[in-house]
Amino acid sequence: MVVRTKSTSPAGSLAEAATGPGYEALRFLSEQRLDHNPVNFALAWRCKTDRHSVPAMAVDAILMEGRRLVQADVDLITAAAKSNGGAAATEPGHDALRHQTLRLADIAAHAASRSSDFGRDLSAGLFQLSGGPSSVEQIVKAMVQRNYDIQTQLNAASSEIEELRQQVEISRDDAHRDALTGLLNRRGARREMSARRSSRNSSVALCDVDHFKQVNDTFGHGVGDRVLKAVGACLSQSLGSHTLARWGGEEFLVFLDGVTVAHAVEILEHARSNLADRTFRDRQTDKLIGSVTISIGVAPFGGTKQDMAIEAADRMLYEAKRGGRNRVIAAVAGTR
Ligand code: GH3
Ligand code: MG
Ligand code: MG
Repeated sequence: MVVRTKSTSPAGSLAEAATGPGYEALRFLSEQRLDHNPVNFALAWRCKTDRHSVPAMAVDAILMEGRRLVQADVDLITAAAKSNGGAAATEPGHDALRHQTLRLADIAAHAASRSSDFGRDLSAGLFQLSGGPSSVEQIVKAMVQRNYDIQTQLNAASSEIEELRQQVEISRDDAHRDALTGLLNRRGARREMSARRSSRNSSVALCDVDHFKQVNDTFGHGVGDRVLKAVGACLSQSLGSHTLARWGGEEFLVFLDGVTVAHAVEILEHARSNLADRTFRDRQTDKLIGSVTISIGVAPFGGTKQDMAIEAADRMLYEAKRGGRNRVIAAVAGTR
């Protein structure tokens, strides 16, 4: 990103001459004396990038009256845009991130500009040193102050970077998590399997809740959701550090890195029986649900492609269902 600044910027740290709609939006907020927060920024961004949108035209109308935009105007325009649905074209999370990265670049650019002024002043100061002890003291004081200012700005930039890094982590992780169970989702599971360390002797399993439709039909979908969550938690407890993901619907995937199929069967058998031993009760209504079981298909995952291993596990799962459910069936090495 190319950022040009003038050290005499009247808007504090705002990079006055920087280009692009993001900076125009930041400058617009400063001109209107509005807070630099994500909500205000989102509206300013809209005005700079989509002039014919309803919110941008509402802002134009206010400015044409010859008055400044105030916070109440922003709130009203933002609320109207939200209730119109279509106008909320950008995601709040994205607005916040975009706003923060711009502010960060702005702080860094300003610190860099101050630092270059400092260098210039240092050279100029050298010429003035001949002026006697009092001018030396003044020059040194000014330099120390300037140095302190730069340090403060760089510290601010560092904490912004850290905050931004955390936000990026969170949003990245969100895309890999299942909202209901909090487990990894299919995408997260694929990422884990792609990043696996052991090149051989790993295993993958698919677990499917038995007769789950009956739970929904008897107790309702809400109870069904809570049962799925509890099944996820129970499996997670039994499986320890092995990767567990919600593969979809009432299906879970287990990836056992560096674990042979024979050992994986033992681990999964233990998880299966832990779940089968539990009696479920709906906490909200105190209705007895009874036991919930899963069928599990296991296949080797090493030297094979991800999809092929999962397909093999799925075939074994089908066998487990066919064999009467509530059991673990594993593919023999070399099974296709
Ligand atoms: P089987 O033992 O053969 O697996 O029988 P089943 O009833 O579990 O299998 P089926 O595929 O007939 O039904 C699965 C049901 O799981 C149907 C679907 O509505 C339900 N289901 C899938 N995802 C969810 C969910 O997120 N919440 C709830 N409550 N139900 C779900
Ligand atoms: Mg299923
Ligand atoms: Mg099922």
